[in-house]
Amino acid sequence: MLRVDVSLCLGCGACERVCPTGAIKVIMGKASINTSLCRECLLCAKICPRSAIKKIKPSYSLKDIHTQIQKIEKELALLRKKLNRIAKSKI
Ligand code: SF4
Ligand code: SF4
Repeated sequence: MLRVDVSLCLGCGACERVCPTGAIKVIMGKASINTSLCRECLLCAKICPRSAIKKIKPSYSLKDIHTQIQKIEKELALLRKKLNRIAKSKI
């Protein structure tokens, strides 16, 4: 995950121009990254004259992890049901 240190950003737009996915935009004079579009190619970080773009480790709370596990468990249960139905229809 990438983060822009807005205190360093000049709003020059170099990162926006170089981004191949349109993930980074300068809004109100500061760069902002849409993480869902970002492929972490780091082109923006390399071109930034202020080294304002840095790769960071995402931090998740225990609650976030628990929610994700619950979602996965639900999806697995649905998949198991589907597989059972398919297996029964083949007998
Ligand atoms: S290249 Fe760096 S200084 Fe320029 S807009 Fe992007 S983050 Fe800001
Ligand atoms: S890392 Fe690559 S894809 Fe992500 S914002 Fe920067 S230039 Fe765009």
